[in-house]
Amino acid sequence: MQFLHTALKRFSPRRPTLALTRRIHVQDRSRGHVHARALHLAPPFLLEDYTPRYQTLSSVDAAKKRSSAYAHLRNCNLCPRLCGVNRYETTGMCLIGDKAKVNVIAPHFGEEPCVQGHTGSGAVFFSMCNLRCVFCQNHDIAHQRNGQDLTPEELGDWYMKLQDVGNVHNINLITPEHVVPQVALSILHARDQGLKLPIIYNTSAYDSLASLELLDGLVDIYLPDFKVWEPATSKRLLKADDYAAAARESIKAMHAQVGDLCFTGDGIAKKGLLVRHLVMPGYEAEGAEIMHFLAQEISKDCFVNIMEQYHPDAHVGKPKRRNTKASGNGEERAEERRYAEINRPVSMDEVSAVRKAAETAGLWRFCDPPKHDGFSL
Ligand code: SF4
Repeated sequence: MQFLHTALKRFSPRRPTLALTRRIHVQDRSRGHVHARALHLAPPFLLEDYTPRYQTLSSVDAAKKRSSAYAHLRNCNLCPRLCGVNRYETTGMCLIGDKAKVNVIAPHFGEEPCVQGHTGSGAVFFSMCNLRCVFCQNHDIAHQRNGQDLTPEELGDWYMKLQDVGNVHNINLITPEHVVPQVALSILHARDQGLKLPIIYNTSAYDSLASLELLDGLVDIYLPDFKVWEPATSKRLLKADDYAAAARESIKAMHAQVGDLCFTGDGIAKKGLLVRHLVMPGYEAEGAEIMHFLAQEISKDCFVNIMEQYHPDAHVGKPKRRNTKASGNGEERAEERRYAEINRPVSMDEVSAVRKAAETAGLWRFCDPPKHDGFSL
């Protein structure tokens, strides 16, 4: 495991936009006059102060969560795979047993500006995943069992190091769907050690409702991806035909727990839901369906990051097989590529189509770069 000070993900820094604004006066030194500028922060999304939810959990509820976490590990139904295995004895589809395997723990500067802030997000990258996305942008971590096995207590101690040494803004649990009991126990341990940072649950949204119930009261920010909409697409590209149905139910449950994304006055997100959608080449219509769902069934105030940085990765574009193809004067060898339909970057037209669909649906809180030339937090 590494304690790195470098960003591993490829998220473009963006500025959160809060359209309810108040005006502040700024001295323009070059011209010697005063003009007004939008601060982009106002109630109801502006918090005076924030106490993480796990801090307010009663000791009785904490004890119930501990007991529930151990029970889940003995009969695992933590994600829609519903393997039902005893993870002290064997593993299910995620290939992880009773100990979480962690690849990297580090202050991370590749997240949204409202998450990474000035001092970074305290990222914990868990090895393996309960999905098998053929295009996984993090496949070196999510598809391989590399890393160190940590007990919940050891994991919680790392959160304390991120807080006390890393001085990060939050604890950011990345791809944690298959280790929720271990995560719940680690948060409760860190709480007893003096953790004060908000917890981010950074998920593919392929979660079970039982799992989210266990997390209720422990997580402050839910940060789900919503990847694709059609069952046929998720079956082919994610190896889970029930993905969108599970994601819809999960995101509804997440929003019911924490509501829309809220910030403190420093521009750092502290509580709520932030949904990511990575626009896929040729799948902008599915992105539009996802935006429509968020506006209609979650909230028009849902904070959304429409991401354009898709690139072919993992299995995409790998040689499929060599075959022969008749051509003109004879035969030439032609190479087929796996998942050829997504073996290219997205176009700006595709990204714009998803953005337009989101705006038409009524969404307005996007993770946009600043329109002025000021700071970018
Ligand atoms: S987390 Fe999901 S994939 Fe892993 S054992 Fe449990 S139900 Fe199966």
